[in-house]
Order: sequence, then C-alpha cells, then structure tokens
Amino acid sequence: AVLALEQFEYIRNIGKGSYGEVTLARHKRDRKQYVLKKINLKKASSRERRSAEQEAKLLSKLKHPNIVSYKDSFEKDGLLYIAMQFCEGGDLYNKLKEQRGTLLDERQLVEWFVQIAMALQYMHERNILHRDLKTQNIFLTKSKIIKVGDLGIARVLDNSSDMATTLIGTPYYMSPELFSNKPYNHKMPPMPRQYGKDLVDLVRNMLHQDPSKRPTVNRILRDPYIKKNIAIFL
Ligand code: ADP
Ligand code: MG
Repeated sequence: AVLALEQFEYIRNIGKGSYGEVTLARHKRDRKQYVLKKINLKKASSRERRSAEQEAKLLSKLKHPNIVSYKDSFEKDGLLYIAMQFCEGGDLYNKLKEQRGTLLDERQLVEWFVQIAMALQYMHERNILHRDLKTQNIFLTKSKIIKVGDLGIARVLDNSSDMATTLIGTPYYMSPELFSNKPYNHKMPPMPRQYGKDLVDLVRNMLHQDPSKRPTVNRILRDPYIKKNIAIFL
C-alpha cells in the first residue's frame, strides 16, 4: 500500500466494531479526517481473513455518492486497516435513537430511503449483495447525505442467477427466508399511522413473505410515489 499507519494521527475512538476499534484519524498530508477501521487478523480464521480483505477490496471498487468512499487499506502487525471517509453525522441507529420515539417526517424519510435504494441499485447492478443492511451500517455526512457502509459481509455473486444461501446477518433485519429456520415470537409492529398510504403500501410490498413477490431495487425506484418524490428533491 502507498499509505501506511504512520501517515495518520490518532484523534479518538468513535466506535467498536465486531473485529476491532473504529478510530478517527487525521491524514498528515491532506489534513483531512478519516475513519480507520481496524480488523484484527491475528485470531481470525482463514475465512474471516478473506472476508476482511474482501471488504477492503470491494469498498475500493465502489464509487457512488451514497456509498462510503474508500481512501486506502494496509496491514500492520497482524491488523488490517481500512481508511475511509468520515461520516460526521454518525450512524442512522444513533440518529433514530436521538429522536426518542418522534417519527421522522415522511419527506425526510423518503429522501433517505431513496439514497439507500440508489446505493443498493449500484451494488446490485454489479452483482454485489450487502447482506447486513441495517441502521448501524448506514451513515450520514455533515450535510445529512446518506452513505451506506460496512461491507464486512457483502458478497459478490459470480453469476447473476446464483443464490446466496449462507445464514448470515442481524436478526431484526433478516428476511423471512433467512429467518425461517430460527424460532421467533415477535410480530412486526405495523407502520405508524402518520405515514401516507403510498409509503405504507410500498413498505408492505417490500416485506412480503415470499421473496419473489418483493420488488427489486430497480422496481422500487420506478414506483410512482418514489419517482414523484425524487422529482421534488431535484
Ligand atoms: P462492524 O463490521 O464491526 O459492524 P462498522 O463498519 O459497522 O463495523 O463500524 C462500527 C461502528 O463505527 C458503526 O456502527 C459507526 O458507529 C462507526 N463507524 C464506522 N464507519 C464509520 C464512518 N465511515 N463514519 C462514521 N462512523 C463510522
Ligand atoms: Mg457494522
């Protein structure tokens, strides 16, 4: 790698990743802040190692306004570092927690929804599945632009007709077909009544038990209600 750890100055820790710390650092030359995601490869199985390297490789290839942008990656003392854009707005999980139960207004919600959908459309066009899409892995910039991140368990389908079958993900965000061999006892709460029928219907379709009945991301972005909103944002 062209860059190494010495080119960054430690600022502070901003998160705890599942394989190590996530720290904020300043690049000595350009003086800009970056996030360094540290992944401990020492205790990792060969499969975990491959997956960590995959994350760096994938991120370096993806360039989209709604995907966290990649700076560099390097290995030092059995640790893999991935340097990426710092999203000052933090993650959507904490953002929603700060709302303390107050619902997002529909316009804001749809604006973020569309940006997430566009990031996924870009990935799906390249046969890349994120596989761990959830609020903790969706970030916001200072100006509140959505950046999808944490491609730690993303997977590339070699053939577009391939199916991913590994049981992987985070329970609350897993699809029924992934969940079906797990016991559960919580029904999903209904959508809040504050939101309009167009949005509620779209979400219901996306949550269809039968995956073949769920819309593709292309289909979602062609939905008349979504298209109308995209026209408003522009
Ligand atoms: P893991 O694979 O362990 O889940 P993540 O990439 O999701 O690691 O990072 C863990 C946490 O660190 C995130 O939930 C978020 O709070 C913070 N974080 C990670 N990357 C960024 C970033 N680019 N900008 C701001 N915060 C980040
Ligand atoms: Mg994560």
